[in-house]
Amino acid sequence: VSHEIRTPMTIIREGVSQFLDGILGDVTEEQKSILNISLDAIDRLGRIINDLLDMSKLESGKVELKKELVDIASVASKACRDFGLRAHAKGVQISLTAPEGRVETYADPDKIMQVFTNLIGNALKFTDEGLVDVSVSDFVDFVECSVRDSGRGISNEDLPRVFSKFEQFSRQPGAGEKGTGLGLAISKGIVDLHKGKIWVESKVGHGTKFTFALPKFNETELFREYVTARINQARRAKTYFSVATFELANLEDLKNKLGEVRCGTLLDEMGQLVRDNLRRKTDASLRSVKGVFVMLIGTDKTGATAFAGRIRPFIDDYLTKHGLIGEVKVITRVISYPDDGTTEADLTKILLSN
Ligand code: ADP
Repeated sequence: VSHEIRTPMTIIREGVSQFLDGILGDVTEEQKSILNISLDAIDRLGRIINDLLDMSKLESGKVELKKELVDIASVASKACRDFGLRAHAKGVQISLTAPEGRVETYADPDKIMQVFTNLIGNALKFTDEGLVDVSVSDFVDFVECSVRDSGRGISNEDLPRVFSKFEQFSRQPGAGEKGTGLGLAISKGIVDLHKGKIWVESKVGHGTKFTFALPKFNETELFREYVTARINQARRAKTYFSVATFELANLEDLKNKLGEVRCGTLLDEMGQLVRDNLRRKTDASLRSVKGVFVMLIGTDKTGATAFAGRIRPFIDDYLTKHGLIGEVKVITRVISYPDDGTTEADLTKILLSN
């Protein structure tokens, strides 16, 4: 359905854009203004459709999180930057409060970005002057993020329904950006999938603060979750499943030498490098505490060893370029189902051993 809807929309959008750009002949100012209104409406329709599809995917349990070790502070910072222009145009100050260094937890970075985008977007939409403050705090068992604004607030009677679908309060007819009333329901769905919590505090005329907390998974739990899902998939499809790992053997030493932040960046960039070189959509890569794991469905041990051999030079090139080749010891391993183990417990144990 998603494809069926998106294709004609792309075609309509392209046609209108071509008129607007004068590619199909001269356009008068009046025509331009009507074409611009059409383009805005098409984009809005696109957003509504995306929201509806996201909501239905969440409700039918079809969303699989692509969890990896993420620096939530840098996701928040990127989200703030994305809204910089819009905030500036409105004269609203947008700021980020986060601890120095990284705030790591296992999460799906794109989905968490979507939550921040929705909350910051709302905060700006409903704030005409003052500030929007985004904050990220690191606790032992969870990461807490909040988006606070000095906008119009939400009344006590509306508060219990903010996370419900299609709820929009005190909408001013006509003017302003129109939403779908699905953003917060989707955000809650995403936070729930992460086994987190989201809540709101607000006072009419003073502002609103949305907060969500994401639990910190430990690596073992996460691997169990990942490996179990893929073993089941491989079993059902009667096929192989392999994991190729690229891990830093001397991480503790490196942390002392290069500092924790630089090591974090190194691992992020290694993860990105591997991701950029995956050839199939079904292959998932996962940044872990010590390195990068790639889950290869349908690939046996020989295939996975060849894969690791293909990827390894990219990592070595990267290390050479950064003057780290002698210092960083990367160990490559391949663990396969059913060759090395047939249960999730067996494979997780090998994967997490040194
Ligand atoms: P949308 O923004 O698309 O209308 P949401 O689900 O994101 O849908 O929000 C639902 C409603 O909650 C909004 O229409 C608005 O009435 C209220 N709301 C959300 N965020 C804020 C905020 N920061 N300040 C005031 N009202 C808000």
